[in-house]
Amino acid sequence: MIHTLLIANRGEIACRIIRTARAMGIRTVAVHSEADAAALHVREADEAVAIGPAPARESYLLPDRILTAARETGAQAIHPGYGFLSENADFAQAVIDAGLIWVGPNPDSIRAMGLKDAAKARMIAAGVPVTPGYLGEDQSAERLAAEADAIGYPVLIKAVAGGGGKGMRQVEDAAAFADALVSCRREAAAAFGDDRVLIEKYILSPRHIEVQVFGDRHGNVVHLFERDCSLQRRHQKVIEEAPAPGMDAATRAAVCDAAVRAARAGDYVGAGTIEFIADASDGLSADRIWFMEMNTRLQVEHPVTEAITGVDLVEWQLRIAAGEPLPVTQEELSIDGHAIEARLYAEDPAKGFLPSIGTLEAFDLGDPADTGVRVDTGVEQGSVISPWYDPMIAKLIAHGDTREEARARLADALDEAIVWPVRSNAGFLVEALDHPDFVAEAMDTGLIARAGDALMPPAEPSEEALVAAAAELTGPAFLPGFRLNAAPRRAGAFLLDGQPIAIDFTDAPIADEAVDTSILISEGGQTWALAPFRAAGGAGGGAGDGAILAPMPGRVIAVEVAAGARVVRGQKLMVLEAMKMEHALTAPFDGTLAALNAATGAQVTEGALLARIEAD
Ligand code: ADP
Repeated sequence: MIHTLLIANRGEIACRIIRTARAMGIRTVAVHSEADAAALHVREADEAVAIGPAPARESYLLPDRILTAARETGAQAIHPGYGFLSENADFAQAVIDAGLIWVGPNPDSIRAMGLKDAAKARMIAAGVPVTPGYLGEDQSAERLAAEADAIGYPVLIKAVAGGGGKGMRQVEDAAAFADALVSCRREAAAAFGDDRVLIEKYILSPRHIEVQVFGDRHGNVVHLFERDCSLQRRHQKVIEEAPAPGMDAATRAAVCDAAVRAARAGDYVGAGTIEFIADASDGLSADRIWFMEMNTRLQVEHPVTEAITGVDLVEWQLRIAAGEPLPVTQEELSIDGHAIEARLYAEDPAKGFLPSIGTLEAFDLGDPADTGVRVDTGVEQGSVISPWYDPMIAKLIAHGDTREEARARLADALDEAIVWPVRSNAGFLVEALDHPDFVAEAMDTGLIARAGDALMPPAEPSEEALVAAAAELTGPAFLPGFRLNAAPRRAGAFLLDGQPIAIDFTDAPIADEAVDTSILISEGGQTWALAPFRAAGGAGGGAGDGAILAPMPGRVIAVEVAAGARVVRGQKLMVLEAMKMEHALTAPFDGTLAALNAATGAQVTEGALLARIEAD
């Protein structure tokens, strides 16, 4: 067996691999960039080696640095994880040439599957159905356009070297072909250094079905059933599950057997995934499922397969890399229940899913012991999300007897997720899991795009959540209202993520004590911070400079002190009516009212200097 394993990756997958290696008694070596010096995977490994600056090109993607780190630490084997160098055949060969164990397939297999056109040609040879299309050498615009006509619109132009959803263009009709080809080629050249393309029939109502396969060095190949990764945003997977909903036994057998045939044809060793596209316009049927591509590595979504089969796929990878045969036969594998995974990204759905960076001041995805949901992550509270790497920060995986049980469990866990102040897509994931078409198993890869704004989580917490938070922040004290002969109103100005908001919480129960400075409101997977509005040195006191600023635009309805007057801390200076409520502005400390810029009836803008107190 391997005694020391170097993991040439970072984040959740590095932590995931370390977990299994440790359970197997294998010593682990992490590598890290300067930006990741304090990362979780570095701390969890037995040893860690710095391999360069933050940009992946200068660290995680440098084969020599990784091989040097392996030599220096006595590592015998290298696990590449996914992404980075995992599908780099030259790196795999260099690892082998250095006398180390490559935890992955033979470099030839990686090479053979690396280009979409060559991979499809191999599959055709192995008798695996492939998506109808054109794979030819002739890359002239005329020939490609003619082939697209022959295939019939709509078509998809794909970069042969493409991956990660990049380098693809859907074309609706012949008139749009030429422009789409130019832009696809440009993107392919920039992203992959190869502008060759292939043309495929664009499948309507497509579902992404993939089969997990495993081969060993003794000629055995098994499959571990299928996954359905149809919930995608811009051709990138968001939610994955196993088994595929609506897959009957005959269709499953046909697809999984085709996958095994494909793996066998290439003497495949280790973990691999054969991706298919299904035309699901009329349910899943074997004659409408075609090979799309093969990934020669562990997939992000492998945990759903682990959940339904009880197999630790990383353990299998390590055993097979060490030369052991597959531990079970095909007959010994079966499906137990249903599993769903959601990818949690540090991104802001409200801002077009822009990546969100910063320190995770609050990060809580629940205790798996309570939620029953597995969490694979590479970060923890206090970690910094940097702009350098993929913004996926965690995967949550729920398993249940039924799909509905898994779905509800996952939605519940995401609903309770706390990620702050970094933004996350947890609220969006909750909406996606609850979407009627997803619930009804009526999804295809276009669901998210079609649903559009219906999947956008609310911009603000609910009224109930705001009122409860305001009451808790304020505690037994309350900001008195100013209407004579009326019951005291508890209402005030607050800051919700820095934006002024007025909250009337008269009807909320009075909390035992006040929370100090701010409180996190977490609802539906989203988190906001609520703080009492304190104009610089204004209401509530603090070490301000004595400037009394208008907390929000409004009208001064009462001025209770005159310029030059002595004031004491907490003394009411004036009352502002804003957002239909009255807000008392008080002295932050004892002193003299050195300046008074506001008169009763004055309309003031947010941040206007209303008065200034000079301390004694
Ligand atoms: P990548 O290697 O970039 O991930 P894939 O070839 O795996 O690209 O395709 C990614 C996704 O694009 C698929 O999961 C599917 O949603 C969509 N897709 C790919 N091929 C087709 C097709 N012929 N028709 C419709 N959708 C497709």
